[in-house]
Amino acid sequence: MKQNRIGVFGGSFHPVHNGHLSLARHAAEALGIERVLFVIDRIPPHKTLAGGASDEERLAILRLATEDDPLFSVETLELYREGTSYTVDTLRELKERYPDAELCFFMGSDMLNAFTNWRSPEVISRLATLVCTVRTGQSGGERETADMLFERFGTKVILLDEVSPLSSTLVRDCIRDALPIQDMIPKKAEHYIYLHGCYAPEELRPMYERLHRELKPQRMEHTAYVIETAIALAARFGADPKKARLAALLHDCAKYLPEGLLLPYADTEPPMMPILHAPAGADYAKEVYGVSDPEVLEAIRLHTTGDANMTLLDKIIYLADMIEPSRSFEGVDEIRNASTPDEMMRLALLRSIWYIKENGSQIHPATLRALHDLGGTMERFGESEVLAICKLLYDKKATDILALHIGDKTIIADWFVVASGTSVTHVRALCDELEEKAESIGLSIRRKEGYEDARWIVLDFGFALVHLFHPEEREYYKIERLWEGDDNMIRYPVSE
Ligand code: FE
Ligand code: FE
Repeated sequence: MKQNRIGVFGGSFHPVHNGHLSLARHAAEALGIERVLFVIDRIPPHKTLAGGASDEERLAILRLATEDDPLFSVETLELYREGTSYTVDTLRELKERYPDAELCFFMGSDMLNAFTNWRSPEVISRLATLVCTVRTGQSGGERETADMLFERFGTKVILLDEVSPLSSTLVRDCIRDALPIQDMIPKKAEHYIYLHGCYAPEELRPMYERLHRELKPQRMEHTAYVIETAIALAARFGADPKKARLAALLHDCAKYLPEGLLLPYADTEPPMMPILHAPAGADYAKEVYGVSDPEVLEAIRLHTTGDANMTLLDKIIYLADMIEPSRSFEGVDEIRNASTPDEMMRLALLRSIWYIKENGSQIHPATLRALHDLGGTMERFGESEVLAICKLLYDKKATDILALHIGDKTIIADWFVVASGTSVTHVRALCDELEEKAESIGLSIRRKEGYEDARWIVLDFGFALVHLFHPEEREYYKIERLWEGDDNMIRYPVSE
């Protein structure tokens, strides 16, 4: 009868990385292994790394990296065992648990060469088959060692080519230096590392601790995503990655300061509360978190509004905040895929102005300065959306369709759309059509008036007010006359 094979992958996983995972998958496939147990060991005191990760963190990273593959599971029997862990004890325990399985113990070739010095090699040889990975092109007599071990202890050894040159040391170095690790480690594990500052330089740890106390959990999640994105953007565009990481880490540090501490930073009337944590955050990062780098502080200060003359670092933090992976607003991928920081900024600023307008809020002058500085323009803002509204009306046989750009004449809206139906029923049908299709053109209706009588229905889209008239009311009120100018009117359909 063929025995099940169970892989036993011991290691410190400091941290686990894609090289470990692909080796486990490769071995499983090559040897018909049904399950791989990652046996995480206690780190011997002499191997403890400064600025590393605690046992709990190493374990959490390992769990996150392996939990989505049913082939893998995590064993903590060595982590919580008192005193020195010996492989032979671990294998004994696993053999008791899986008496009918053939245990395949994974090891590197350096370990194979030292095998005779291990505790009870003859017992290990009875309990398990050794699976030894050999670095491609670097075989150092593993075959001979294997034959010798078989003669002495009856050891069964299977040699396998190593599949990935990655090492935990390399991953740790990249994390320390704020270089991207997205290709080295599974997403969830990477996120955990940025969320807790594992393997980051020592001086960031107290900052992390304070942030975890002062920010809500979902704000910390966002912060971790901003760090990840800022690191990627810094690598992509050649900015200082450590400054990007620090600014990203602290960008929202003042998010939950009481109103009284935020208000002094207001420079508009009425104060724009949602943006004040940015200028306040720059001071807070300096005074409370001890950051002295003026470039980092400036990037924090500008992350909600932007401004003219932004540095590459300023842009990266503004963008990272807006396009981090948990953001899913329409158009976010367009920003992510734009080819230069300036192009990304233009799209990001337009999107944020759009969002502010849609919510009927004020736009901070610094945001407009940023947009103008990048050669962007705000004129006729929302024109394509208004044309989409006109098209819906036109397709439903509305008549006399006009779009009036009134943004520079009034603050009630940027646009008026005026259209007529032939009867009360038709006017209502036009209104129903817009309500039904608004979402499909990326818009939403905030308010609706006059539906009952249906002689003059007003639909409020935030940036645009749509007036649907019965012909008699249209003729009587002629509201377009109030707003008509030389070049602010579009008659729909637009004739060439
Ligand atoms: Fe913020
Ligand atoms: Fe933020």
